[in-house]
Amino acid sequence: MAIREIRKEGDAVLRKHCRKVEALDEKLFQLLDDMAETMHQANGVGLAAPQVGILKQVAVVDIGEGVIELINPEIISQRGAAVDVEGCLSVPGVWAHVERPQTVKVRALGRDGQEHIYKGSGLLARAFCHEIEHLSGQLFIDKAIRFVSPEEEEK
Ligand code: ZN
Repeated sequence: MAIREIRKEGDAVLRKHCRKVEALDEKLFQLLDDMAETMHQANGVGLAAPQVGILKQVAVVDIGEGVIELINPEIISQRGAAVDVEGCLSVPGVWAHVERPQTVKVRALGRDGQEHIYKGSGLLARAFCHEIEHLSGQLFIDKAIRFVSPEEEEK
């Protein structure tokens, strides 16, 4: 495994659409392993492939309950709405209130080649939405309701 460089806002790669994964091969498994390691080292709860410069529909999420690997993920249903503070490893030092569904269901391939359905509420729903949006070139700052000032952060 290896730590990969996290691309920062302003890097054009973060604004591009990702391609669907066609082949579940060693190169993909290496990417998934590296992304999990990079996310953990940076204390993030999610990381999407474009954040490490790879334009593939791949993301990892870990809210402290183990790594969930998402290949070609899609949100298939959502319920409710919740506003909470969110950040991004590609936009360091910036925090903002963002509205997300309270609960989402995500369909994705696993590295086993099988289709999996993940249900997430609260932080997990937020992480799924945030990472899946990265795959179409969107960043959380695009839909920020209100940015959190550094003074507010210290309270
Ligand atoms: Zn992000």
